[in-house]
Amino acid sequence: MLKEIVARCEELAFDLSFSRAREWKSQGKNRVVVGHLPVYFPREIIHAANGLAVGILGGGDRKLIIRGDAYYQSYICHIPRSIIELAIDKHFAGFDGFIFPSICDVMRNLSGMFQMMGEGKFVKYLDLPQNFQSHIGGTFYRYELQTVLNEVYKLNGIEVTPERLNHSIKLFNINRTLIRQLYDIRQEFPWKMTAADLYHIVRAGYVIPVEEHNEILESVVRLVMEERGDPMDKIRVLVMGAFCEQPPVGLIRTIELAGCYIVEDDFLLGARWIQGDIDTGSTDPLESITSAYLEKSTFSSSVYDIGNPKEVRLLNLIRQRKVDGVIFAAPSFCDPALLDHPILQKECNDKNVRFISFLYSENTGQFKVIKEQVGTFSDSIKLWDEPVLKANL
Ligand code: SF4
Repeated sequence: MLKEIVARCEELAFDLSFSRAREWKSQGKNRVVVGHLPVYFPREIIHAANGLAVGILGGGDRKLIIRGDAYYQSYICHIPRSIIELAIDKHFAGFDGFIFPSICDVMRNLSGMFQMMGEGKFVKYLDLPQNFQSHIGGTFYRYELQTVLNEVYKLNGIEVTPERLNHSIKLFNINRTLIRQLYDIRQEFPWKMTAADLYHIVRAGYVIPVEEHNEILESVVRLVMEERGDPMDKIRVLVMGAFCEQPPVGLIRTIELAGCYIVEDDFLLGARWIQGDIDTGSTDPLESITSAYLEKSTFSSSVYDIGNPKEVRLLNLIRQRKVDGVIFAAPSFCDPALLDHPILQKECNDKNVRFISFLYSENTGQFKVIKEQVGTFSDSIKLWDEPVLKANL
């Protein structure tokens, strides 16, 4: 049963035709489909406006790049090339709009290209605040979200009332809670479900209505609890740096096959961005969404939050998930990740946390070298690491 659910989720997650979103749109009046790019976008507001927010995560290793390369210089990451290729091949036909959260220059340029190519009825570059004070960053962020709502209103005339928005927030709170439960189960019993299976289950939620994803997650939580599985002699790792361009699933499998349990990661970080629930009882739920971003966001290289150092938050996560080591895995040429990693790695060095690092592309096809590197990492921790080294944590 669990196997079938995972297989269905894999199919949904990598359906580059976005069939379920198209089908959903055709099943009701005034429905809109809005694509959003990584990392985080509050999907609640689109849901409340009778829409479906669909995560666009690139073509991975399932889309051959033929023309996408011509749009970009060679020394940038891979994800914009595959997204352009998807656009040229009309995979986004029927999408009403696109949101590009501000994470880096590449995303900013991609939003400009979508505008020039006439994709959708609106393209919004969503400037996320870098100031976390409510009267500055909060006011700005709220204004940005209202701009998105105005765009959708122009398309379908649906007014987002507080009741509608609170209802949507409730559904996404459930979604985040269930995903958190799965991560918690994996922290304790990582042998009950592979990281690749968990990845497929979470990623399916990027392309289907939240109501359907919640049903899937509820079943999965129940079924995983019933699984017994056999613990294996593997180290527990945290994978960091993969928040935007996604690693190929083969790479996730390789890490686990090489002697690691991935008990924490930032693969599909947007789904887990808000830590905890967003208030659902307010007469001003847009404010609740805004405050949640300012106060309950996780950390990522895509965000500059000087008052909340990432290295400290990384160490907290290492403690919380009881990991034996960190794997810094970043997409080639990903400026945000690669600029942060030396700072994070220095902190790991200072605190005697073992780590390795490597680069990947979403279409990397050869994992032999990575398997050897990860395998050696795992063996060295199992054979020689001493618990005393972690005392500094
Ligand atoms: S992978 Fe990195 S550099 Fe490329 S678009 Fe994403 S955040 Fe930007």
